[in-house]
Formats: sequence, C-alpha cells, structure tokens
Amino acid sequence: MEKHLNILQNYFGYTSFRPGQAEVINNIDQGKNTLAVMPTGGGKSLCYQVPGLAMNGTAIIISPLISLMKDQVDGLHALGVAATYINSSISSAEQRQRLIAMQQNRYQFVYVAPERFESGSFIHALQQTNLSLIAFDEAHCISQWGHDFRPSYRSIVPILQQIGGNPIIMGLTATATPEVIEDIQSLLHIAPANTVHTGFERKNLSFFIEKGVNKIDYILSYLKKHQGEVGIIYAATRKQVEYVYDVLNEKGYAVSKYHGGLSEQERQDAQTAFIFDQTELMVATTAFGMGIDKSNVRFIIHYAIPMNMESYYQEAGRAGRDGEPSNCVLLFSPQDIHTQKFLIEKSEMEEEGMQREYQKLNKMVNYCRTQSCLNSYILNYFQLGSATASCGRCSNCLQQGELEDITEEAQMILSCVKRMRERFGVGLTAKVLKGSKDKKLIQFGLTKLTTYGILSKYTEKEITERIHFLLAEECLAAEEGQFPILKLNQKSMDILTGKENVTMFIQDVPTVEKADYNTDLFEALRQLRRSMSQELELPPYVLFSDMTLKEMARYLPE
Ligand code: ADP
Ligand code: MG
Ligand code: ZN
Repeated sequence: MEKHLNILQNYFGYTSFRPGQAEVINNIDQGKNTLAVMPTGGGKSLCYQVPGLAMNGTAIIISPLISLMKDQVDGLHALGVAATYINSSISSAEQRQRLIAMQQNRYQFVYVAPERFESGSFIHALQQTNLSLIAFDEAHCISQWGHDFRPSYRSIVPILQQIGGNPIIMGLTATATPEVIEDIQSLLHIAPANTVHTGFERKNLSFFIEKGVNKIDYILSYLKKHQGEVGIIYAATRKQVEYVYDVLNEKGYAVSKYHGGLSEQERQDAQTAFIFDQTELMVATTAFGMGIDKSNVRFIIHYAIPMNMESYYQEAGRAGRDGEPSNCVLLFSPQDIHTQKFLIEKSEMEEEGMQREYQKLNKMVNYCRTQSCLNSYILNYFQLGSATASCGRCSNCLQQGELEDITEEAQMILSCVKRMRERFGVGLTAKVLKGSKDKKLIQFGLTKLTTYGILSKYTEKEITERIHFLLAEECLAAEEGQFPILKLNQKSMDILTGKENVTMFIQDVPTVEKADYNTDLFEALRQLRRSMSQELELPPYVLFSDMTLKEMARYLPE
C-alpha cells in the first residue's frame, strides 16, 4: 500500500518492509483483527506503529515491559509523533493529566501495562477516547501455556467488551507454540487466516562452534577483526569473567564486567556504561542480560558451554536485535562439560530434576558436537517449525568436506556397545574398537570380544569422534549421570538391522586446530598434541604414549 510505504519512508526512514510487516499492516488496514508471530528483532513494533499513524484515533499498546515503554515513546517523540505512556513509574497526578489528554484524543499512541485495565478510571477514559487499535505486545503473556503467563493480561479480555468503539485488536509475539497461538486467537477473536507467521528463524544470526582453540587468543583475534563492534562475552564462572575482563582491559579495550560477586552499585554502573555505549564490550556471567534490550549487539561469544540450550539461545539471541547480521560463537572445550556437571551435582535438586538437567546438558553437548547445520539443530530443538537442511552460514555449513556413508562403521560401533552389554562409556568403547592395550580392557575381559580391534584402522580419536557423532544424531543413547554409559535405542536397532543408513560429514581438515604453518615440524606436532589431548579429554601424557609420531603426522597440514 502506497500510504504505508510513505509512512515507513517519511517517518522511519526505512526503504522497505521486513517479511510479514506489509501483510500485517494490510490486514489492519482492512479492519481485521490480526496476530503477528515474528522473531525477536523482526520488527513487530512497526506493525502497529505504521497503521497507528495511518489511522485516525488513538492506538493503545499494552506491554508488560514497563522499562521499554519510555524508550518507545521517546523514539516516537523524536519522529514528531504525539505519544505517551501511563504506568506506575509516574505520579498519580501525572497519570490523571495524561488520561485527560487521552480522552481529548491528543495522542496517537498510548503505552500501558496490563494492570492499568484494573483501574476504573482508566476504563472510563478509554470509553471516551476515539480508539484506532489495541495492540497486545508480547501477546504470549495472555496464555497459560506460554512461558510468561500474566493473569492481569488475560483479565483484559472480558473488559474489551465494555470499551466499545470497535478498535481493531492485534496480538504480537516472538514465542508461541501452537497451543499458545490458538489460545491468543480465541481470546482475542483473531481468525487463524489473519495470523501472519514468519517463522522463528533469526536469519541475521550466524552460529559458530570453535573447538580446540586457545580461547583468549581466539577472542583477541576476533576483536581485532571486528573492531568497534559491540559484543557480550559470556563466561561460566565469576573467575572466568575476572580473567577475561583483566586481559581485555589490559589490552586497552573499553570493557565492562558483570557477575553476582560484584556489588549492586558496581553491577548497575557496568550495565549503564554498556547500555549507553560508554563501553563496547561486556564480559559477564548469565546473571547479565535479563530485561536488557540493546539493539546493536553484533556478537555474543560464549567462553564456555552453557548449561542448556534454553540459556544458550536466550543469551545468543541478544545479538542482532536490530536485524543486522550478527555472530554467535561458542568456544567449546570438553573440560567445560565437567564444570557444568559439577554445578548440577552441587545444586540441591532432587534426583529427578538432576536427571532432567543432565539430559538438557547432553543436548547442549550434542549441539557442540553435531556435524549438521547448527541453525537446524536449534530450530528442531525448540520445535520452531520446519528447518531447512542447511542454513549455509553456520560453522558446520561452511565447513569443507564430504558426506560419507558410515553405516557399516556405525553397525560395528553399535554391536560393540551391545557386546559390552551396554555397561561402559565412550572412552572404553573406543579403546575396544581400536584394540587398545589398555590394562582396563583386560581387567574387564573386553579384549576377548569379537569387536575388539575391529576399527583398528582408525585412530582412537577418529573412533571417539564417530561415537560422539552417533550420540549427537541420537543413533545411540547415553544414560545420564556423571559418567554417561552408552545404551542402544530404537534407532540403533534400525541401523543394526539395516533399516536405516548413517551418513556423516567428513571434514577435509581434521577438527583439531591446524598447526601454524610457520613453526617448525616439532613445534607443529607439539601444538597438535595439545589440541588433540583437549579433544580427547585426556591428560597430555596419555597421548604421548598412545599416539605415534607417524599417526600424528597424518593431521599435519600439507
Ligand atoms: P521486535 O519487537 O520484533 O523484537 P522491533 O520492533 O523492536 O522488533 O524492531 C527491531 C529493529 O528493527 C528496530 O531497530 C527497528 O527500527 C528495525 N526495523 C523494523 N522494521 C524495519 C524495516 N522495515 N527496515 C529496517 N529496519 C526495521
Ligand atoms: Mg518488541
Ligand atoms: Zn547451518
């Protein structure tokens, strides 16, 4: 529509609509109640701001985020639009004044918190106002099935009848499962056909897993390549935060730190400095970020593996809220899994809760080890609709290599697990398949198995990699606990009986960090050994004896 495009360009200075926006706005233009389901940063605000500007009357925006109302209103003022907010942060005298101005139709937009509808004087004022539309921002809060249910949100529904004037009703949300969507549709009288669903994929985010790198070196080189960009580095512990902060501070970066060990004032100052662009970088534990809406964050680096996909996606999702391309990098080292396991052990949870946490951590580890598209993994995990096979921009999609059929090897691994009576973990299983001389194997009588040494043409590392791959693809299960034990599942059976094939992406360059070309061979081997011992979760001396120089040389770059 011409008039909407004009508003977009003249008021907001944008050239074109983002996916879904024009459709939502056209619906509103035709007087239809509409639900917009778009990812964070997708541009939901414009979906009510543009029609609100195109229509006569006052648009009421209901939002549970009081802290963000002022920003939105300031933004509209800067564009020369009459807007205000009415919430508990202003005096009651001021509230009364704004209500009177609202009844005189002096605002084009009025932002309110859901609790406002409990006030008789507010309802009365609404009845006197010429309303254009009522938008429920964060509409999932209206549903008991949502993750952030607000009873006050739901109790607005019956009140809508009393308001009169037939304003158009809109719902907007980024987090809606099918149940929540149906709930919003029925409560707000929105026809399913008038629901605009762009999917949840955050197309501007690129996900990367970096394995076996020196983390600080990685961060420093990332910062050098991305100078002037705003970013958050999440660490697992306060100690890690202090360490990373000190290094960056010493190098002269404008950096803040945030964790639970700092005083309230220190945390407040750090947050303010970061929000108002006095510092570009924030090093923090997961304590940082709740309720923070900073739109120009260009990258999130995780210094260590988070405890589950939920926290990971929430933290990584703080990048790119303005819709611009942004990176989410996770620095993975297997030792960090132990930190998370330790935290679970130490939490005073009941057995059942603990098992659930282990399971979630396991999915997080699988994310780090999967060889398929990271973006698809995320979309599948959260059941955010059908994922395309590959996003083409995550570290796995960008990896060079070939897809190979490994069904036969998978069968060997699975039958080995079966022969070991599903009583052992990854380490011992790999040793059996390799045909290792490890004393433990003799002790447990494992050298007599028919699968002993059946994969001896591979290194133990390569075998381990394949077992982890089978785990990540859920072709094999792991019993939860501190030392996961390999178990067969239905998919294992299907593979063993030849009903299902397994393909694996074999990288041209091994996952261990490439040795530096400039160093001499000895130094290169040393580096390689170091990164490989990290990969295998073994102390360095084990590799010394287990891996011959010749074997190691296979991994050297040409
Ligand atoms: P959401 O509420 O969906 O998370 P916002 O409405 O806060 O997203 O918008 C995110 C960012 O995208 C804002 O900075 C906004 O100005 C910008 N934006 C929205 N629509 C467009 C557009 N059509 N073109 C360019 N930028 C846009
Ligand atoms: Mg929003
Ligand atoms: Zn991908």
